[in-house]
Amino acid sequence: MQRGEHLLALTTDHQHDLSGPAAHEAATRLAEFHHRTGFTGSVVTDRHRLRRVLARHDPEVYPGTYAICVFNPDKALCRPRIPPTGSRSVPVPLDCKPLECKNVALIADNTRALSAEAERLDTRLRGGPVLPPLLHADLKRRRDAIGAFLAQAAGGSE
Ligand code: SF4
Repeated sequence: MQRGEHLLALTTDHQHDLSGPAAHEAATRLAEFHHRTGFTGSVVTDRHRLRRVLARHDPEVYPGTYAICVFNPDKALCRPRIPPTGSRSVPVPLDCKPLECKNVALIADNTRALSAEAERLDTRLRGGPVLPPLLHADLKRRRDAIGAFLAQAAGGSE
């Protein structure tokens, strides 16, 4: 799915499902984007129009597996870059820090992916062979950080 279509689907299907520190900002930007497209639902009736609206009024919301980036370069914990053909900086998803960055919003798919990651880490920590102490501590820290982050997001605190 193209980003424009993904954003429309977020607006229509996950509007009330957003959590995380940038949830409110995500909802505002997505509603504005949807309004500009002029579509009444998530069905794309004019792909050219959608591309035009995205090019002119990009909400700078980037859906990902573990988080939705509601990009604000001043808060970004990755190192935003300026693409060769663009004038504005963009986030770097490969360097994303979803547990710490204030630009993060979540939908259920993201929390499921994070929970699955925490379970994978847990399985690794409990299964053999015995891990080197530093690696064990690293994995445990990450598993616990994911758990704390999800609990905070579920509680609606920022
Ligand atoms: S760290 Fe992740 S959420 Fe934060 S700005 Fe970068 S890509 Fe977006």
